[in-house]
Amino acid sequence: MVSDTDPRQRKVRILATLGPSSDDPEMIRKLYLAGADAFRVNMSHGSHTHHAEVIAAIRALEKDMRRPMTILADLQGPKLRIGEFADGLVQLETDSVFTLDRDTSPGDKSRVGLPHPEIFEAIDADARLLLDDGKIVLRVTEAEEDRIETRVEVGGPLSNNKGLNVPDVVIPMAAMTDKDRTDLAFALDQGVDWIALSFVQKPEDAAEARKLINGRAALLAKIEKPSAVHRIDEILEAVDAVMVARGDLGVEIPPEEVPPLQKQIIEKARTVGRPVVVATQMLESMVRSPTPTRAEVSDVATAVYDGADAIMLSAESAAGDWPEESVAMMDKIATAVEADPSHWARVHFTETLPDSTSADALAEASNGIAQTVSASAIICFTTSGSTARRVSRERPSVPLLVLTPKLKTARRLGLLWGAHSVHTRDVNNFEQMVGKSKRMALRARIAEGGDRVIVMAGVPFGTPGSTNVLHIVRLIGNELQRHTQDEIDADR
Ligand code: PEP
Repeated sequence: MVSDTDPRQRKVRILATLGPSSDDPEMIRKLYLAGADAFRVNMSHGSHTHHAEVIAAIRALEKDMRRPMTILADLQGPKLRIGEFADGLVQLETDSVFTLDRDTSPGDKSRVGLPHPEIFEAIDADARLLLDDGKIVLRVTEAEEDRIETRVEVGGPLSNNKGLNVPDVVIPMAAMTDKDRTDLAFALDQGVDWIALSFVQKPEDAAEARKLINGRAALLAKIEKPSAVHRIDEILEAVDAVMVARGDLGVEIPPEEVPPLQKQIIEKARTVGRPVVVATQMLESMVRSPTPTRAEVSDVATAVYDGADAIMLSAESAAGDWPEESVAMMDKIATAVEADPSHWARVHFTETLPDSTSADALAEASNGIAQTVSASAIICFTTSGSTARRVSRERPSVPLLVLTPKLKTARRLGLLWGAHSVHTRDVNNFEQMVGKSKRMALRARIAEGGDRVIVMAGVPFGTPGSTNVLHIVRLIGNELQRHTQDEIDADR
């Protein structure tokens, strides 16, 4: 059972999407016990009333388990869709001519309405239009103000309101639709910890969302457009985390280009210390089967070896027949990879880029010092969570225990590689810092009498600011007997 006194050993985090197969309180609990560290609520589906019930169930579980739980609300974003057909479905013949226009009347096999004026403004001849997850490919032959004529390069069946991807052009559209704005306000009122922004094209998209969020949640950008890949460095600067959203990314770019991009995005995010989530189709066959394919197991393992902060389940946990088994399988794969002695060398392949601050210098040093003095754990006191992020990005081999007086911070850190956060009262002086570190390390069972632990904090205590203290503490055999019951109670 995962609790304050029995933290997960696994470093990589599991983010499970909730949906019809898993969003009742009993199944959420099962997913948590099977290994889910964070939950994704997908705003593309379901009503606010239902989402509120799901969020309440997670918070009830949090109380019950006495563990901070992480909730990510994923905004649908400006998903492009075609209009409808008179017969609901047409068969597009390869090499035929097909037109998209601004006429709202039902379409046929020669034309369909496209309710997105921005596309008519931006598109040029020769650009590709991909329909239904890329199954149908159209090539623009003529682009006019109110009609786009195309040649069908790859035909097939096409039905009402299918999704449209325009990979070759930056579409001048807002990062958030009216629905996204309403969903965002709802999610923030519900106190979710992370907001995921879909179809980000440029850093300004993230900046706009950031302004609306106004510090009430952390911001994650889903990287699923080639334009976002091109500006990944600037986007990383503008957000708190990114997701390699391989579903749409693999439609917008050739699938064979996704694995190298996945590695590059993970490396860039890790270098600048932004958590990175790898998502979509990780255990896809487990939507219908109790066991994954060998290739899927290898895919999950690759993300863990690459040092991703979190790996995500989509349909497997949201709409599949085996949600609990999917989480358990991901847990088993990640645990096996992390037990591989070569995992550490591989994970430390990425070099971090510390700022010239005392906080970054100490965080960078903490892992080396832990190894030199054979410390059992790194313990950090943090208010905003920034020290924890800095230490986590060094991928320390020993457990990282994060102590914070802010529940919000403890919850947000649930997407962070290796961080076990505990919501607890703040300390006021050096003596209290040392005492609490010892008690909390013993309580979390990450150290025992005789062990050393590394403690990081910012002085003066109680004022949020940069970490400027790294202290090595040795626990003695009967450590807990030296603390008063009041001190032990105050840790809770
Ligand atoms: C994706 O496209 O990979 C993704 C995570 O987004 P969604 O599940 O919202 O399509």
